[in-house]
Amino acid sequence: MTPPALASVEIAPAARRGGIGLYEWHPASGLLLWDDVLAGIFADRSGETPMQTWCRRVHLDDQPRVLDTFSAAARPESEAVYRLVMDDGRIRHVLSRATYVEHGPDGAATKVVGVMLDVTESQEEGARLVDMLESISDGFLAFDRDLRMTYVNRTAETVLGMPRADLLGRVVWEVFPDALGTKFESMYRRVLAERVGESFDEYYPEPLNMWVQVNAQPSEEGMVIYFQDITARRAEQHERELLLAAEQLACQEAQDARLDAERARATGEQVRQQLAYQATHDGLTGLLNRSEFERQVQLRLAAGHGPVVALFMDLDRFKLVNDSLGHAAGDALLVHVARRLPRLLGPHDVVARLGGDEFVVLLTGRDPAGAEQVAARLLEAARLPVLVGNSSITTTASVGLATASPGATVQTLLRDADVALYRAKDAGRDRLAWFDADAHGQLLDRIALEADLGSALTSNQVGLHYQPAFDVTSLRLIGVEGLARWRHPRRGMVRPDVFIPIAEDTGLIRPLGRHIIGLAIQQAVLWADLPGFIVWVNVSGRQLETPGLADQVLGDLAAAGLAPERFGVEVTESVLMDERAASRELTRLAAAGVSIAIDDFGTGYSSLARLSRLPISVLKIDRSFVNDVETAHGRAAIDVIVQLARIFELATLAEGIETPRQLELLREAGCDYASGYLLGRPAPASERPLVSAV
Ligand code: C2E
Ligand code: CA
Ligand code: CA
Repeated sequence: MTPPALASVEIAPAARRGGIGLYEWHPASGLLLWDDVLAGIFADRSGETPMQTWCRRVHLDDQPRVLDTFSAAARPESEAVYRLVMDDGRIRHVLSRATYVEHGPDGAATKVVGVMLDVTESQEEGARLVDMLESISDGFLAFDRDLRMTYVNRTAETVLGMPRADLLGRVVWEVFPDALGTKFESMYRRVLAERVGESFDEYYPEPLNMWVQVNAQPSEEGMVIYFQDITARRAEQHERELLLAAEQLACQEAQDARLDAERARATGEQVRQQLAYQATHDGLTGLLNRSEFERQVQLRLAAGHGPVVALFMDLDRFKLVNDSLGHAAGDALLVHVARRLPRLLGPHDVVARLGGDEFVVLLTGRDPAGAEQVAARLLEAARLPVLVGNSSITTTASVGLATASPGATVQTLLRDADVALYRAKDAGRDRLAWFDADAHGQLLDRIALEADLGSALTSNQVGLHYQPAFDVTSLRLIGVEGLARWRHPRRGMVRPDVFIPIAEDTGLIRPLGRHIIGLAIQQAVLWADLPGFIVWVNVSGRQLETPGLADQVLGDLAAAGLAPERFGVEVTESVLMDERAASRELTRLAAAGVSIAIDDFGTGYSSLARLSRLPISVLKIDRSFVNDVETAHGRAAIDVIVQLARIFELATLAEGIETPRQLELLREAGCDYASGYLLGRPAPASERPLVSAV
């Protein structure tokens, strides 16, 4: 078989060939012939032969490899990707593939005919995908069909504790011999043989000693897996089980102790002493109680010797310990912490437990630096692990400090220290903070809003504005997002950024969320004739934490006679971090047909594993990315998000479109839907004549 000579090949015009160029190369003589497409890609200069252009353009590091590949080409289909350095210094990537090879008697190629094309864009896209893979929190590995590792991301290096150089190119069983004969092996073989995805949890012994959750998918090259270290998660569960047992034991002990105590109360004198003690001490920890503490503070304030500082301390994870491990464990923790406190204080200091996990200390005659030293000691003591049953619990504390100003009363001093404590928590816990009068002003403002928010609900001051979203190509209206608005009787319109966090902190988010969902569904019924139209509402983490959201939404939908497909909820990535609770409710909603969107995508720490596990249908690209879309970096980020969405078969919606240029660029990037001030601002339903817009 002789290939047609290049000159006689029937060549379609370059445009119709989609930028694919043809060449013919004779290795022995070095003769290279190419067509106008390649002359264009290589940007030849007049008077140069193609071989001269080739040698001048191709990156010096790549030349030997490319020449070797093709002169040794035993068969067609040999290919290489290599770099060209353009006159302005930019790098282009070309892919060259041999389509026909003639061999001499020694087996070496004597003539190679092939095609070449510019793959710069897909190379760069590949590089962006790699950037993305490098930044995710899952370990990511790619394998060829022989299970040789071809790609290892940064997280995988960290989790496995091995540098990539030690992993790349090696067969997985060589590096992890203990995986042979385990679920790892059977699952990987299945993925390769049957080309199906698998996910499983499995333990890997020494040297990793780790439980991993693995998700394996077939790929063109072989297989890719992403995985997470779930050792801590499993240990937590184990610890919880142990503590449950300890809690039962503690219960029994407490009962025995009560019986003993009853016997001890035999004599009248003992009873009197006990009563006096009980009146001034906290029953659980034996520290002073609130009323005795207040009395002693009053005495010290009245005596007026030197500075008085109040220290308010509260355990950071106490509620969690109590809720997840039971009250017996919570009480044990309080007793242990309480025991440590008096040892850290001087003889004139007073320490008390005010209730719950709140402890308070009054220091007399110490300057601020001295008071901080004491606070630091308390923080350190709180960090020490506490043994409950057979398990150890670690916790941290936050401390607020306030100095008694002239005229201070017990109440103002404690209140100021409490405000400072609030600041310490707000700043990230496990730290101390001083009372600050300005911050206190802001807090008062917030407290006032907090108080008003309760009545806002009952007097119908919270409503929804609706912002439309459109299909990027057809500009067809696809739905609206309901955004909460609070018409405050004195302050005017309060933004959701201000009152939603307050509602979350106070627990009002649940009734508020119910109210909002009810309003949105009522409104959606009025828009039900619009084909395919969806009304979305935002749902916060707190709403998902307690069970019942799915019941409520599905109940409201049924009562209103609205198809679940006409309703959607938006949650942020951070909400999805607490996966168990969130996925339970979301899975039920999705199963019924309600759409689930991830809001503000890209601003959190994305996890591929999470994306694939949850029933999500839309990724909402955060406004900050849209804002940057005109820069190269911003555009690259959008491209990666769109690609990622495609992998997981999700639609993308870009938020915050403000200019026609942004809309155009997002359309180009392949984004499906868009919303923003350019297309429509949030407005009350009455001002949004949606029906006529369609
Ligand atoms: P979000 O869900 O990301 O909502 C989009 C925000 O961007 C809205 O602010 C919207 O008015 C604004 N926006 C829309 N298009 C543009 C634009 O082109 N340019 C600019 N600069 N901004 C635009 P809004 O209404 O103040 O809401 C703020 C956040 O409050 C929301 O962010 C959402 O996280 C939360 N939120 C709003 N309503 C609710 C609700 O009913 N429940 C819960 N849990 N959260 C809500
Ligand atoms: Ca939203
Ligand atoms: Ca958003």
